[in-house]
Amino acid sequence: MNNIGVLMTCPMSEYLENQLENRFNLFKLWNHSAPKPDFLKTHSSSIKAVVGNTKIGADANMIDSLPNLEIVASYSVGLDKIDLGKCKEKGIKVTNTPDVLTDDVADLGIGLALAVLRKICVCDRFVRSGNWINGDFALASKFSGKSVGIIGLGRIGSAIAKRAEAFNCFISYHSRSKKPNTNYKYYSNIVDLAADCQILFVACALTEETHHIINRKVIDALGPKGILINIGRGAHVDEPELVSALLEGRLGGAGLDVYENEPNVPEQLFSLENIVLVPHVGSDTEETSKSMADLVISNLEAHFKCKPLLTPVL
Ligand code: NAP
Repeated sequence: MNNIGVLMTCPMSEYLENQLENRFNLFKLWNHSAPKPDFLKTHSSSIKAVVGNTKIGADANMIDSLPNLEIVASYSVGLDKIDLGKCKEKGIKVTNTPDVLTDDVADLGIGLALAVLRKICVCDRFVRSGNWINGDFALASKFSGKSVGIIGLGRIGSAIAKRAEAFNCFISYHSRSKKPNTNYKYYSNIVDLAADCQILFVACALTEETHHIINRKVIDALGPKGILINIGRGAHVDEPELVSALLEGRLGGAGLDVYENEPNVPEQLFSLENIVLVPHVGSDTEETSKSMADLVISNLEAHFKCKPLLTPVL
């Protein structure tokens, strides 16, 4: 397979780079001094696979500039950076990395909720600053037993629900259809879900329909005591609305792993103590990043050996 051209769109994992280099003729888009269109013009005919991620996937321009592209293998479960319509139209296969990252992302979601409610980061700064000597830390809020709403009861949403159940939380959810094998309460209307829960987790796929699914109405329904946790994608949330709700005290707090314009985060958030911000690290553990890379490689090998894909999307 050493003569098969594989294009990696941006740095994502050193282990993945090494594994790809050992097996294929690897092109690293970011290593070429020529502008992207020039690079694609020169090497386009030898590239049969693209490996993308949550930052750079495969848009219509890239797909159109690679005439011999056979497969897009995403080092992510989210597919929002891949033009799936274009891939379908051209018969290009698509794979992603489901399941292997589910636990990590759900763990982080619960961690963010705990950190916001129990003020873990503020407590940490309080101890480090030496202020404890001057008096005890203020009271925080309880997580156990709170009502939890989940938008998108898929793999990650279900894993969050399972964890929250262990904290005796009451679980409700919203998705396009009611799930048959669960007793969690279903809401067809997201505003009603937000009004009836204390912590709202966003765990759905980013599509045209779910862009800004968290808007002013949803935020106001969640209210001044409500907590928003977003481990989905930044564009699920109307960010200026979120920022003003937090600044004006119309929302109780937020735990965010993802942002609309990463790596840029609205600076107005930096001084708020009722939010916890992490830099899109939902699946970023050593264990999971290796599993994701192995899955990308296995999918590519299966494709080029004409075997069934392990995790096909298209
Ligand atoms: P999944 O199993 O496919 O679940 C996605 C869920 O989204 C489905 O349950 C689906 O439910 C729901 N959904 C789709 N369209 C919807 C709509 N219009 N309204 C409400 N719900 C809708 O995917 P997953 O593995 O759980 O991953 C979920 C997402 O998490 C990914 O797409 C990705 O963007 C994000 N993610 C983030 C990180 C991170 O680092 N923060 C890491 C991994 C994944 P219905 O079909 O019933 O509507």
